[in-house]
Amino acid sequence: MVPEAVGGLRRTTTADRIGHVNELLAQAAARPVISTHDGQPPHLHYADENADVVTRVQATTAAGLAMVLAGAGPDRLGRCAAPGCRTVFVDVSRGGRRTYCSPACATRVDVAAHRTRSRSRTLPAGGPEGTGSP
Ligand SMILES: [Zn+2]
Ligand SMILES: [Zn+2]
Repeated sequence: MVPEAVGGLRRTTTADRIGHVNELLAQAAARPVISTHDGQPPHLHYADENADVVTRVQATTAAGLAMVLAGAGPDRLGRCAAPGCRTVFVDVSRGGRRTYCSPACATRVDVAAHRTRSRSRTLPAGGPEGTGSP
């Protein structure tokens, strides 16, 4: 379900995002339970502790996405705009306009754009000898 959950984030409208996460919650049949296992303080589990790992991951993913949508807002789920990057993220920036998953992706895109600009500047329309002085 995790890849499908990620794929669903490509849907752009708020209604689509909410509908998709509601579908995931229904499929996961998330059943929250407060646990104190291993001497830990009370905390939430979204599936029975004895359920198989796939069921637990489905329930936890669906619940986590639902909490982001309902808590932070549906526009705070993003997918990195860098070519070749499939990372999804929760946008916790003040303005909520994050485009890339990380500074590394932002830098990669900036460097590629800079190289493209530089290349087009050093290749004059008349031919390769255009950069020398007379
Ligand atoms: Zn636990
Ligand atoms: Zn990225």
